[in-house]
Amino acid sequence: MSEEVFKKVVSHCKEYGFVFTSSEIYDNGLGAVYDYGQNGVELKNNLRQYWWKFMVQMHDNIVGLDAAIFMHPKTWKASGHIDGFSDPMIDNKDSKKRYRADNLLEDKIAKYQKDGKTNKADELQNALDAALLANDLAQLKTLIEQHEIACPISGTRNWTDVRQFNLMFSTEMGAMAEDADKIYLRPETAQGIFVNFLNVQKSGRMKIPFGIAQTGKAFRNEIIARQFIMRMREFEQMEMQFFVRPGTQKKWFEYWKEARLKWHLALGFDKDSYRYHDHVKLAHYADAAVDIEFDFPFGFKEVEGIHSRTDFDLKSHQDLSGKKMQYFDADLDENGKPYGNYIPYVIETSIGLDRLFLYTLCASYKEEEVGEGDKKDTRVVLALPPILAPYKVAIFPLTKKDGLPEVARKIIDDLKFDYNCFYEEKDAIGKRYRRQDALGTPFCITVDHESLENQTVTIRYRDSMLQERIPIADIKSILDKAISWKDILSK
Ligand code: ATP
Repeated sequence: MSEEVFKKVVSHCKEYGFVFTSSEIYDNGLGAVYDYGQNGVELKNNLRQYWWKFMVQMHDNIVGLDAAIFMHPKTWKASGHIDGFSDPMIDNKDSKKRYRADNLLEDKIAKYQKDGKTNKADELQNALDAALLANDLAQLKTLIEQHEIACPISGTRNWTDVRQFNLMFSTEMGAMAEDADKIYLRPETAQGIFVNFLNVQKSGRMKIPFGIAQTGKAFRNEIIARQFIMRMREFEQMEMQFFVRPGTQKKWFEYWKEARLKWHLALGFDKDSYRYHDHVKLAHYADAAVDIEFDFPFGFKEVEGIHSRTDFDLKSHQDLSGKKMQYFDADLDENGKPYGNYIPYVIETSIGLDRLFLYTLCASYKEEEVGEGDKKDTRVVLALPPILAPYKVAIFPLTKKDGLPEVARKIIDDLKFDYNCFYEEKDAIGKRYRRQDALGTPFCITVDHESLENQTVTIRYRDSMLQERIPIADIKSILDKAISWKDILSK
């Protein structure tokens, strides 16, 4: 899929009510903030449900949580975000544009690779890794100069120094200015889980190994926003922290690495669109980390991270709060002694819902040649897995009169408790089918005059475009068979 098609996906999102730019009426909207429209919210809810059902409902040792976005500011001291959650940025003095210094260098590496200059690419990659590891901002600037990187806008190499830029948004809590206390909008959902570790463990009588899962908004003041909903300033994460006995983290890391990829593959998209990317350079808290990447139109990019976070977070919270974050393990070790008290190790799975949404759309978007001769045409279809489609079925009375709308309404009244249904009586049937194709609706049902006589309707299938006559009484069982969580969750 080319960049060209990606542009079409982006405009499809707006035209068909999937994604809109936030407050677009004002100066073209707020940068890197997006709203989900009437169809987008349905698809997003379905994707979130797919994750929740798999993580929570399908695992009897994983429970959910819905922690607040605001947290005590000390949380972010303990987690390391106040001191270390920053990106190196650099400004071009002529265009006044700001860039992430590491992104400029990564783009250059990609360019070297594309031009077959593998040695140069490797050499720069190593130098970049070393500079990032040492947090050597001066060296980042030197690399940008040495490799003659110019600003894509001004074309000049007139750069400022590289500076650190903290990605957390802050605000004040308290009504009076003098009471005001700086608090942060959470940059990840994970910390809400860590600070509730003991609450959940004790109240749920959870035994290790166990997990806590949550979905929710996270906020990062990304220096540059790129590629539509790929990199947003307000986005949604779906994270699960799995608490394990120290020493068993390698085994559980491998377990989740495999389980999470399988979950992606069960969506049914091309398996070659996914790959693992092992981290060589690890975050200060991690002893292993891997990303699951998807082949977006602009290349393979991270959608999910699986991190072995050791006992870093719980230990930091214990140190800063003075509250014990220990678990008592009564199981016996090989010497017949209870394992006793310890701070658990953690395996984290962290996926961005918006990136999942984006790849689902990219993988589903198809332009197809249909018809023959004079009737040759192209149609746009979203080949979504039926369980994810915003609407499962659209019901069309052929005309607005003769009692056909009433029959159509009656069918909806039977189905609406189980399925999101779409009703439409305007325009020619062919046009109505096309609109549903563009939304990914797997089934369309047309009610015509024959329906009044023999209680049958025409069902039309999105992917094959085949049409057949079926009794009204059979509609529900056809939908039940084609649309089930069990199919996807048991893959
Ligand atoms: P990246 O390297 O792309 O900035 P990250 O390594 O900082 O991502 P994590 O902190 O591991 O990302 O966050 C977990 C997941 O949250 C990511 O895999 C991604 O799907 C999602 N995510 C992170 N930042 C954003 C963002 N700005 N917009 C949308 N999704 C995001």
